[in-house]
Amino acid sequence: MKCIYCEQATRVVDSRESQDGEAIRRRRECTGCNERFTTYERAQLRSIDVEKHDGSIEPFNREKLAQGIKRACEKRPITEERISALIAEVEEEIQTLREPIVKSKTIGEKVCQHLGEEDEVAYLRFASVYKEFTDGAQFVRELDDLTNKIDTEVTP
Ligand SMILES: [Zn+2]
Repeated sequence: MKCIYCEQATRVVDSRESQDGEAIRRRRECTGCNERFTTYERAQLRSIDVEKHDGSIEPFNREKLAQGIKRACEKRPITEERISALIAEVEEEIQTLREPIVKSKTIGEKVCQHLGEEDEVAYLRFASVYKEFTDGAQFVRELDDLTNKIDTEVTP
């Protein structure tokens, strides 16, 4: 790797695991200007493509996923930390599928699943946008399913 200051060659003077154990931390010294700096080497997450409803393919966009979830959680009693964790959980599940192309439907279902466990209003908001309900009856069925699920959970 070239020096970040003068672009001459550097040598590694120290190499160890980062504190979180998820990266290799390297201390480098420039052979030209003698400046030292640190680099971190991490495994890069695979890039994923998403197949949309109309069959078109686009790269997975974390920001877009985050926007959708944040919008659904607006003014709901869900903390910022929880929302961030939720986004990370969904992303991790998508990564774990180990498929090069994931259907947007699959991603939507995962978000629905997580939001359903978190907050029913947030869930319904997301589901109503994402599932593109064709008629009101379908929305009511969805609502019934959810209500039943909640009843089952609270009934001993
Ligand atoms: Zn240098």
